Amino acid sequence: MKKIPLHWSIMLGMILGVLVGVIFTTFEAGPKLISHWVKPFGTIFINALKLIAMPLILGSLIKGVSDLKDISRLSQMGGRTIGIYIMTTIVAVMIGLIMVNTLKPGTSISEQTRQELITAYQSDTAEKQAVAQKQKEAGPLHALVDLVPDNIFKATTENGNMLQVIFFAMFFGIGLILIPPEKSKPVKDFFDAFNEIILKLIDLIMLVAPYGVFALLASLVVESPSLDLFRALGMYTLTLLIGLFFMVLFYLFLVRMFVKFKPKKIIEGIAPAQLLAFSTSSSAATLPVTMERVEKNLGVDEEVASFVLPIGATINMDGTSLYQAVAAVFIAQAFGMDLSLGTQLGIIMTATLASIGAAAVPGAGMVMLVIVLGQAEIPEAGLALIFAIDRPLDMCRTVVNITGDASVSMIVAKSLGKLHIPTKKKTWKDHPPKK
Ligand code: ASP
Repeated sequence: MKKIPLHWSIMLGMILGVLVGVIFTTFEAGPKLISHWVKPFGTIFINALKLIAMPLILGSLIKGVSDLKDISRLSQMGGRTIGIYIMTTIVAVMIGLIMVNTLKPGTSISEQTRQELITAYQSDTAEKQAVAQKQKEAGPLHALVDLVPDNIFKATTENGNMLQVIFFAMFFGIGLILIPPEKSKPVKDFFDAFNEIILKLIDLIMLVAPYGVFALLASLVVESPSLDLFRALGMYTLTLLIGLFFMVLFYLFLVRMFVKFKPKKIIEGIAPAQLLAFSTSSSAATLPVTMERVEKNLGVDEEVASFVLPIGATINMDGTSLYQAVAAVFIAQAFGMDLSLGTQLGIIMTATLASIGAAAVPGAGMVMLVIVLGQAEIPEAGLALIFAIDRPLDMCRTVVNITGDASVSMIVAKSLGKLHIPTKKKTWKDHPPKK
């Protein structure tokens, strides 16, 4: 394994995982064997990645902010980051709307398939609706209230509280800038070392990544629904995939324009993170690797990466917002509804907000889709139509989510003079030696 670049060995792990999964579905005891003997290793791998996420955000953000020297730089970086994030999310929803209105995948689904899907996935749909209902009842300013934790130790015990931890880390970092340097030095030194340790742990976890993704994919395959469903929803899947592809092209174009960085190099630089996003369906679980790759291979200064990427993982989900636009209109089409321009403009707004509010975990985009459907008065029962194929599509949209974060981090870094494009030799290395 050692000589092969990491992204290739991860890819190999994925392919073998799918093959083994397919083989084990062909006999009766197969799926159970995989669930009992292979899946646990995938779960351990994802847990290890998630385990690192909180300490990574705390360590790197406190270090990043305290390195800034003055607060005006923080607001400059914050303004640019949020501005570009919102802009790309709106573009994503628009691409989704254009695709779904042009290809009209919902009209190809037959009445019989529609009824079958609705009956089969009624109870799963009800579960998602209940979660979404809770979010809706909380009121419009709830997200803002949620941003400020009342207890930092409590906040760090729950991976879903990432924004709260980001808030605390930034607040703490600001405090660190404002006290005299001789007083802040020991704390800064501590977080510098803490950060180094976490980065080393990521390196160690990545050594087993090929085996981890093997286990994840093998168990996904044995648990996935029948191929027939994929066929029935083929047009919807295709529409979404084409949309996601255009979104990636859009990022590559932006980076080419603003950073003059070759698309091929970006993809090669972050390929391991993309493959992990695909295997885990979680931007949060992928965050440690995204950060490592963006700094080492794309040359984004740590100060910028540690700020832009954790925020992006939680609020910038362009794959998710694009999916929500496609899914909402697809369901409307399948129910024979004609959506007015006004309603579709409403979808741009709700899908943008819903993707910001979606947690960076598997299936979160679908929960928030309920809110988009509710706003546009599309029957929520339609969720049942797309339930069966949500997971593979979630895998794809998560890849787009993290690609967006990585691209924006490059643009922000460039605009602040904090992009140090690596030399060719370094780009190709997966684990360059530490200085
Ligand atoms: N799984 C996605 C992510 O973590 C969110 C979603 O669209 O469900 O980025």
